Amino acid sequence: MIYSINETHEPNARSWVESANAGGSDFPIQNLPYGVFHCGKDRACIGVAIGDQVLNLCACAEDNLLDGVDEATLEACQDENLNELMGLGWQRWSALRRSIFHLLRDEFPRARDVAKHLVAMSTVRLMVPAAIGDYTDFYASIFHATNVGSMFRPDNPLLPNYKWVPIGYHGRASSIVASGTPVKRPSGQTKPDGSDVPVFGPTKRFDYELEVGVYVGTGNELGTTIAIGNAEQHAFGLCLVNDWSARDVQAWEYQPLGPFLAKNFSTTVSPWVVTLEALAPYRIPAFARPESDPVPLPYLASDENERYGGVDITLEVYLSTRAMRDQRLAAHRLSRGSFRDMYWTIAQLITHHASNGCNLQPGDLLASGTVSGNSKDARGCLLEITWKGSEPIQLPSGEQRRFLEDGDEVVVRGFCEKTGAARIGFGECIGMVLG
Ligand code: CA
Repeated sequence: MIYSINETHEPNARSWVESANAGGSDFPIQNLPYGVFHCGKDRACIGVAIGDQVLNLCACAEDNLLDGVDEATLEACQDENLNELMGLGWQRWSALRRSIFHLLRDEFPRARDVAKHLVAMSTVRLMVPAAIGDYTDFYASIFHATNVGSMFRPDNPLLPNYKWVPIGYHGRASSIVASGTPVKRPSGQTKPDGSDVPVFGPTKRFDYELEVGVYVGTGNELGTTIAIGNAEQHAFGLCLVNDWSARDVQAWEYQPLGPFLAKNFSTTVSPWVVTLEALAPYRIPAFARPESDPVPLPYLASDENERYGGVDITLEVYLSTRAMRDQRLAAHRLSRGSFRDMYWTIAQLITHHASNGCNLQPGDLLASGTVSGNSKDARGCLLEITWKGSEPIQLPSGEQRRFLEDGDEVVVRGFCEKTGAARIGFGECIGMVLG
């Protein structure tokens, strides 16, 4: 593990920003995730979430409030996205985290100078935080892969390559949208049951996929690889992802080359990027493979990955329909699972991606694939929850859902908590379906 537990993880540390100390806040001083917001000067600024506030990092850099960071870092803090900072490497990320931690800690003597660079999170527009050059979507949950496989190939649910190779496909970066952006129901080509020919029209099986995203920090040169032992040095931080999916389009188009228009019409990302250093207290062993499973090939294996490759993030999905909002009913929780259940680790995904010499670049987004667990309430998409629509869910409004209807809002949440560490959260990844 690159990052050791240090003063920035101290569970009793408090901030002079009072809302950061409230129990249950996603953004206590131990978190300090980065985002980008529209800062009112006709430009975007990098910010740090603290309690219910956003600290304008650009303004702090301009005001020389950031001690202990070098010139390159100060310049990167004044950019309009996180790419430059992502490319600087983990030692500089760590120095910046420490610097921000001191600025916001309760005993900081110049708190008044910093306070003028806070804005209420509820008043700012949060954006996609990086210029995402390339987006890759993996398939790293064996529970998801097995469930989906069982629906379509009951005799052979898990394809023979699954336990050997981290499966993924190249997604589309241009249609990645910020949390809160409405998502239009896509049209596509589908082949209705019992019909010999396909039709074109709005998807009838609109779904979400709960995923975790990894932002690449430093990249690798084309033609070079990333050893498993160095892989996490290339990961800047994590976010929440909703990989919207049109299941009927997917079922008809996916063979032989995989997902295409069923997936690339929209992907929603959460605004805050939680750094790997903030997640250090929540590192756990990699998923325990049954004895009968193959051990990973040597390039995907290391003792360190075995011991610390996992991250324990609780992940939840909530749904609210138009009727539920009209009746003022609370959003209904569809699932609660954990990122600990992933078959492949972040390090393995990065190493595998670059293993053929493919160059990763700062700001690339690698999504995990749908995060599903073994239990029924830990399934990360409606396809699994309703078993292809055959077991509809009942909502508190009396409505049923097999797939998403227009006006439905999907909210993904993620957080980490354990005794002896501060609870930290990812905020929300929200999207509403429009007809
Ligand atoms: Ca996916």
